[in-house]
Amino acid sequence: MASARPKTPSILKSLAGIRFIERGWLSANNIFIFNQDELHIVDTSYDSHRAQTLSLVQQHLNQHPQSQCVSIINTHLHSDHCGGNATLQSAFPQIKTYIPQASCEAVKNWDETQLSFIPTGQECSRFQFDQALQVGHQLTLAQRTWDILGAPGHDPDSVILYNAQDGLLISADALWQNGFGTIFPELIGESGFDEVSQTLDLIESLDVQLVLPGHGPAFSDLASSLHTARSRLDYLAQDPKRNAKHAAKVLLKFRLLDWQSIRLDDAQDWIVKTPLFSSIAKILGMSLDEIKKWAPRALIETGGARLSGDLLINQN
Ligand SMILES: [Zn+2]
Repeated sequence: MASARPKTPSILKSLAGIRFIERGWLSANNIFIFNQDELHIVDTSYDSHRAQTLSLVQQHLNQHPQSQCVSIINTHLHSDHCGGNATLQSAFPQIKTYIPQASCEAVKNWDETQLSFIPTGQECSRFQFDQALQVGHQLTLAQRTWDILGAPGHDPDSVILYNAQDGLLISADALWQNGFGTIFPELIGESGFDEVSQTLDLIESLDVQLVLPGHGPAFSDLASSLHTARSRLDYLAQDPKRNAKHAAKVLLKFRLLDWQSIRLDDAQDWIVKTPLFSSIAKILGMSLDEIKKWAPRALIETGGARLSGDLLINQN
C-alpha cells in the first residue's frame, strides 16, 4: 500500500507575522507565527507527511535567514496535529514544545492509549515536551499575545488560542468553516455534546475577525460557521448513533487517506483491531463482524471510497 503524497499546501500570506498553511484532512494545518528573529509553529501535521512539514519550516527559515525555530505549540495531541513533532525536535534541537496541560502526564509516560493513537489505530512518533499550556494563561509568540482557552468537546484536553489585538482565533478542531472534529468522548461513554456547545458559546463571546482552523480554509464569517456547527451538533446530539456512524466513517477515511488503497480484507482486519470500533459497534448494536463490513460500505456510499476488485481505494 502506498502512502498518500501530501497535497500542495495553500499559504495565506496577507497577515503580518502569521503564515497559515492549509494542508489537508490527513494532516492538520500549520500556523507559523513569526517576526524577524523567531518562528513558532502551531501544530505539525501527520507522521507520514513529516518531510513536507520540515520542508515548509526550512523554506520559511531560508526566506528569513535571521530567524530561529523557537517553539512548537500543539493545540491538542491528535496524531494529525503532532505527527511532525519528533522530526522538528531532531532537526532543531533547541526547539521548545508546548502541549496542553491536561496531556502532559500521558506524554511523559508515552501512554498511547491515553494519547488516542491506539484507540484510533493511528501512528505518531514519540516526542518530548518542555512546557504546559495552561488554560486561562497567556502566551507571547513573536511579540503577539494569545489567550489560552479550553475547548473540550472534540477532545477534552484541547486548547484554542485567541489574539484579542487583531481578533485572531486559532480554533484547532473546535470549529471549522463547515463543522468541527468528531466528538470522540461520546464514543466511550463520556460527555461531549454539551462541551461542544459550551465551546461554541465561548468562541461566540470573542471578538473574532479571522479564524485559523485545524483543517480547511481560514474564514471570517464566524456567525455563519457557528450556525452550521450548531445545526450539526443538534443533529448529532438528537441520536448518538449518528455521531457513532460518522466517527466510523471518519476513522476509516483518515487511514485510507494515508494508505490510498488497501485490500478490503486488510482494512477489515484493521477495523477489528482498532479499539474505538468496538465502542462504536456497541452504540450501533452491531457485532465486530457486522461493523467491519458496514464501515467500508458506508464510506463507499458517501463517495469517500470505491472498490476495485478486492481493493478499497480512496476517493475524494
Ligand atoms: Zn483533533
